[in-house]
Amino acid sequence: MDEILDMTINEMPLAEFDCSCGRHHSFPVHDISIRKGAIEDLPRVCAPFKDGKLLVVFDSNTYEVAGRKAVELLKDAGFDVKELLFETGKDILIPDERTVGRILLECELGTSLIVAVGSGSINDSVKFVTSRMKIPYVVVGTAPSMDGYVSDGAPVIIAGRKYSPLAHLTYGLIGDTDILATAPQDLISAGFGDVVGKITALVDWDLSVKVTGEYRCDTCCTLTQRALDKCFATADGLPRRDGEALGALMEALTMTGVAMALINVSRPASGTEHLFSHFWEMDSIARGENPHHHGLQVGVATPVVARIYQLLSDILPEGTAEMCPSPDEIRALLACGGAPTTPPEIGIGRELFHDSVMGAADVRPRYSVLRFARDNGRLESIADQLTQELYG
Ligand SMILES: [Zn+2]
Ligand SMILES: [Zn+2]
Repeated sequence: MDEILDMTINEMPLAEFDCSCGRHHSFPVHDISIRKGAIEDLPRVCAPFKDGKLLVVFDSNTYEVAGRKAVELLKDAGFDVKELLFETGKDILIPDERTVGRILLECELGTSLIVAVGSGSINDSVKFVTSRMKIPYVVVGTAPSMDGYVSDGAPVIIAGRKYSPLAHLTYGLIGDTDILATAPQDLISAGFGDVVGKITALVDWDLSVKVTGEYRCDTCCTLTQRALDKCFATADGLPRRDGEALGALMEALTMTGVAMALINVSRPASGTEHLFSHFWEMDSIARGENPHHHGLQVGVATPVVARIYQLLSDILPEGTAEMCPSPDEIRALLACGGAPTTPPEIGIGRELFHDSVMGAADVRPRYSVLRFARDNGRLESIADQLTQELYG
C-alpha cells in the first residue's frame, strides 16, 4: 500500500496502487526524466512511435535552447521527423486560433506523436491539438515556470478570451536541468512562486476537509509536502541557476501534477492564492493588458492568504491555523528564491487588491478561506485591514 512514497519522481510513471485513503490510484504518464542531460532520453521515450511520423514543435527561442538538439537526437536514432518552427523572434507565442490551427495544418497523415519543445504556450497548444487528434505528445520542458507539464487542462485563447478546456496528460516529460538553466530569470521566479503557493493550497484543503467534509488523500499531501520541502531547502540556488535547485523546482512543479493526476482533484496544486491570481489575470485581460506571469501572481498572493489565516485564527477549526507558516516566513522564502513578495511590487493597485479580497471567492466554485471569512461575517473587515497593511 502507498509504495509510491518510496519512489523517486522518475520511477512514478504508470504507478498503480490501493491507497490508504480507500481509493485505487493510477498515474497514466508513461515516462518522466528530470535530471542533468535528460534530453538524451528523448529517443527512448519516443521509441514506441517510431513506425509513424513525428512532428517536433518549437519557437525561435526554444529551438536554440533545446529544439535543434531534440531534432538531431531523433534523426540520428532513425525517426521520421518533421519540424515546425514558430518564428516568434523575441515575442511570446500565444496559444490561440493561429497557433493551434497551424499545428493541426502541419500535421501530416500518419503522424504518430508530437514533441512539444517549450513550456507554456507550446506545451498548451500541442496538448490541446493532440487531445483532439487522439494521438500522444511528449514535452521537452525549457523553463521551470509553471505546473502544467503534468496536467490535463490546456489553457487556450479563443476569440480573445481565455479558456481551460479539458485535454489530456502528456505521454512523457523531459526536464533537463542544463536546458532549464537557460530559462529567463522571471520564468524561474514564476515557477518558484507557483510552488510557494502550494503551501496555502494544502492549508485550504485541510480547512475544506474540516468544514465541508471534502475528500482528502494523505498520500498525495505527503508527496506534495516532500517535494515542497526539497525545493525550499535549495531555493537560494535559484537566483544563480544552480542545477540541483532547478531540478528540485522542476520536481516540485511536476509532483503537484502527479498528485492531481492520482486523485483527479486539483487541491494539491491550487487554493485561495490561485483564486487571487485568476482574479487579477481576468482584470488584466478585461483591460486589454498582458497579465503578469501566473506564478509571480500566485507567489505574492500566498503571504496574503497566510495573513487571512492569521486574522481568522480565533474561529478556525482546530489545527488549521498551525499548518500555515506566517506571512513573514513566506515572504522570506519568496525573497530567497528571487521572487517578488507583495502585490504592490508587481503592480496590483489598491482598488483592485481590495476588490480581489472581496470577490476572488467566486472565481471558482470551490470552498476556500475567503468563503469561510464571508460565511463568518469577517470578509469586509479583513479586506480593509489587508489593504491598509499593504498600501497604507
Ligand atoms: Zn499554478
Ligand atoms: Zn489516496
